[in-house]
Amino acid sequence: MSVTGIALVSGGLDSICAVKVLQEQGVNIIGIAFETPFFGAGRARKVAEEIGIPLVVLTITDDHLAMLRAPRYGYGKNLNPCIDCHILMVKKAGDIMKERGGDFVSTGEVLGQRPMSQGKQSLHIVASRSGYDGYVLRPLSARLLPATIPEKEGRVDRERLLDIRGRSRKRQLAMAAHYGITSYSSPAGGCLLTDPVFARRMRDLFAQRGGMETRDIELLKTGRHLRLSDDIKIIVGRKEGENKILEHLAEGRDSIIWMRDFPGPTVLVPGGCGDDAVVRAAAICALYSDAPADEEVVALCRRDDSSFPVTVTAAVKDEVSRLII
Ligand code: SF4
Repeated sequence: MSVTGIALVSGGLDSICAVKVLQEQGVNIIGIAFETPFFGAGRARKVAEEIGIPLVVLTITDDHLAMLRAPRYGYGKNLNPCIDCHILMVKKAGDIMKERGGDFVSTGEVLGQRPMSQGKQSLHIVASRSGYDGYVLRPLSARLLPATIPEKEGRVDRERLLDIRGRSRKRQLAMAAHYGITSYSSPAGGCLLTDPVFARRMRDLFAQRGGMETRDIELLKTGRHLRLSDDIKIIVGRKEGENKILEHLAEGRDSIIWMRDFPGPTVLVPGGCGDDAVVRAAAICALYSDAPADEEVVALCRRDDSSFPVTVTAAVKDEVSRLII
């Protein structure tokens, strides 16, 4: 009897151990990983290659953004809606299971490892809300959870699944040593929604804008963000690499400001702005540049395909600090 599991692979140790436990009893594994602007599948790709399993990578940006605006089960410490995110991922994995004639979906979740998203109730919610209740197997904690359909049908031997509970990673580390797994990422590492600064910027974006494009989210990853008014935010590059990214992400409707005579940041005003805001943005540009503090200096602004000079003195640091998002 050939049995196939669709395994969520994050690149973390738990997800690798879950795959190993299933492989030990001869289950074929197809890995699945997800991409959004908040997290990528790079680590999953690497791990899949190392442990020799095929990997399906799905971009789920639109679904994830729609969920992120109003997650039914709320946010974790920052803007991470982990329960709803798991539901979405398990649902997508379930759809792949159906498409490919798989037998179940497997995850690396461990009962009680994270109080909010991996308690018994949360694991139950994830399975039932995904629409694949009975088909969501957690090999690392399976013996502490109700038997799934593949276990009841004898496709998976429940006795050879594990009973890991809680935050200690001792048993997973022992498994890593046993299987010679050395390359894995830290738990929850890599998701920007768990980063407090990014979460604050993302909240600001939700509050200010109706629509949202992937570029708006990409911009949140770069530079200092300062809100000048309800309608106007500026982004200040902090180093050469960030200046280049801002220039690369700039679009025709944006305003771009830089110092004419001194090294300094690129300032991007997404969506552009009027003259008053250009002057404020230019003064902030001067503050973060090598221009002298109390002298008039010239910034250049590119707007609507033309460039023009703006003469300013550098803004005052304390006042600018209050604008930082
Ligand atoms: S940490 Fe990020 S990627 Fe992981 S479940 Fe939470 S929201 Fe999703």
